[in-house]
Amino acid sequence: MNSPFSTEISRHPLADFGWDDDWAAAFAPYAAQGFVPGRVVRVDRGQCDLVTPEGPVRADTEFVTPHDPLRVVCTGDWAVVDPDGGDPRYVRTYLPRRTSFVRSTSSKRSEGQILAANVDHAVIAVSLAAELDLGRIERFLALAWESGAQPVVVLTKADLVPDAATTAHLVSDVETAAPGVQVLAVSAEQGHGIDVLGALLDGTSVLLGQSGAGKSTLANALLGADVMDVQAVRDVDGKGRHTTTTRNLLVLPTGGVLIDTPGLRGVGLFDAEAGVGQVFSEIEALAEGCRFHDCAHDAEPGCAVLAALDDGTLPPRRLDSYRKLLRENQRLAARTDARLRGEMRRVWKMRGAEGRAAMEAKRGRLG
Ligand code: GDP
Ligand code: ZN
Repeated sequence: MNSPFSTEISRHPLADFGWDDDWAAAFAPYAAQGFVPGRVVRVDRGQCDLVTPEGPVRADTEFVTPHDPLRVVCTGDWAVVDPDGGDPRYVRTYLPRRTSFVRSTSSKRSEGQILAANVDHAVIAVSLAAELDLGRIERFLALAWESGAQPVVVLTKADLVPDAATTAHLVSDVETAAPGVQVLAVSAEQGHGIDVLGALLDGTSVLLGQSGAGKSTLANALLGADVMDVQAVRDVDGKGRHTTTTRNLLVLPTGGVLIDTPGLRGVGLFDAEAGVGQVFSEIEALAEGCRFHDCAHDAEPGCAVLAALDDGTLPPRRLDSYRKLLRENQRLAARTDARLRGEMRRVWKMRGAEGRAAMEAKRGRLG
């Protein structure tokens, strides 16, 4: 039967938060042991807020705070939580991540930091009120691809563009910088294009983009009215329980959730070589045709990339931008490696000193 009522009844209470058949299958062994699933909203001070089929739950994260910062439980994770009755309740583990947003940490740390997990769509907001910076868009795209999420570029404030033809031009400019990516022009102010974007965003989404790009305004438009500041948890148990715990995980009226964590907004590249490759997929495809497989596309004979530059099919700006992002990423990787090497040297030195001390102690005892 296809009545709307039967689908209502079979709908999982966490469906609005991104739960689907694949998550259910991954969770099945834990369900058999009596654990409940929970989507992590935020993590702080050794605990986290979760949404579960019973409603919001606060749980201890002691078991999911390993040394490797990339494996620490984070917003968007699907947690395996103790059943009701435990005090405190613990997050026992979390389901393998589909995607993850990682940022490079400040200069003191060599590792990346996990910002959000299981994001399906990365919405890159770009303001049409300023001159388009395609290089910046490409950098956000690299970051998005690297995470495993599908990017979409949203050109905001379209109401400030004088006419539709100009908007169409701007959209097609951005399309040349974003192969495989949908580019939309919207106006949150006038409500244009918001429905199209909303329809696209099933599952879990994040908003990326520069400050002032219009992300908060866009979020409010997607959520309907100014829910951004006052979002209460959806009635997952039908009892009208309200809380502000889902501030970082907002349910969209069109289905799906929006993750909004402060760190994500200004995130930089981290180990994003694969992501960069995907942004410049046409260049990587051309490179397959170069005579030398390690061609640097500088002055090599039989270089398909230079040939495409010559015949005008590849804009020079794209190649420059590709090189710039690769260099940036390599610099970051080299810095990380240097720091890792430094740490290793310290460890070996310490071990050496300990070893010598042990030897001397032994000699002391013997002598
Ligand atoms: P955020 O920093 O990316 O969150 O950007 P905001 O959402 O705070 O928006 C920055 C500025 O752009 C604010 O002054 C908004 O009022 C303005 N803005 C956002 N969306 C639109 C729009 O669709 N049209 C116009 N004209 N202005 C907008
Ligand atoms: Zn080449």
